[in-house]
Amino acid sequence: MICDICPRKCHAERGERVGHGFCGMGTLPVVARVAPHFGEEPCISGKNGSGTVFFSGCTMKCVYCQNYEISALNKGVTVTPKGLAECYRELEKSGVHNINLVTADHFAPAVRESLRIYKPKLPVVYNCSGYTSPAILTMLKGLVDIYLPDFKYSDDALAAKLSKTPNYVDTALASIKEMLFQVGSPGFDSEGMMTKGVLVRHLILPAHTRNSIDCLRLLHKTFNDQIMVSLMCQYVPWGEAKDDPKLGRTITRREYDKVKRELFELGMDGFTQELSSAKTEYIPDWDYCADI
Ligand code: SF4
Repeated sequence: MICDICPRKCHAERGERVGHGFCGMGTLPVVARVAPHFGEEPCISGKNGSGTVFFSGCTMKCVYCQNYEISALNKGVTVTPKGLAECYRELEKSGVHNINLVTADHFAPAVRESLRIYKPKLPVVYNCSGYTSPAILTMLKGLVDIYLPDFKYSDDALAAKLSKTPNYVDTALASIKEMLFQVGSPGFDSEGMMTKGVLVRHLILPAHTRNSIDCLRLLHKTFNDQIMVSLMCQYVPWGEAKDDPKLGRTITRREYDKVKRELFELGMDGFTQELSSAKTEYIPDWDYCADI
């Protein structure tokens, strides 16, 4: 196929296993880990874990990416849509609270097919960068219950510099709008587990509190109380960022408090992390799914 599905619109040739676009992936999904995961927000992980499927490759290229081995080196095993559907069944049997598809944009057609083969009885979570397209979201309409997008930048120049991503702000805001249109306001079951809605994540970067505060203000101005926000402080220097004068450290208590204060002053509903989350132990242990 010639691929234009994500906002990059590479118009690149993609075979089943080899792709020549920015994401560097073929059309068949490559997955790096299929397992219950306990590091998500409490309403997503609960006590039994979230049934995550981590996809390899990405349509962004963040210099600080904490999943570098799978997002840039594309490690993992290739699966068919039918194989993916089997993964959902197995995760469901293990007692997890939901099926959580992590960074799947570049495989959206295959993901849609897998969900048509088997739509889990549990909520389906679509966990993504936020830099997505109407084409991808249309493919997922009616198949996803919870959208979990990032909103990383309030400034296109910063997005271009740190993630090689053009026109990030308008693209991500338009995507979140469409997500909200599809799934509506947040809903929860009797145990407090999320069943539907949009939960937007923002990772605070060291020496970039202005960006974080402006992100929260933009989200509040655009969506008010229709979404929830998860403020994340788990950043650890990784990849190229280790040697960067600004990004080569974790965030300070002062930086975190400053951004949290803005969240509380805006009165937005959501989650904050403990500052002790800034540890490499929170990065999943990739097993590259050798047993699929
Ligand atoms: S999914 Fe990949 S190949 Fe297709 S437009 Fe996006 S980056 Fe390019």
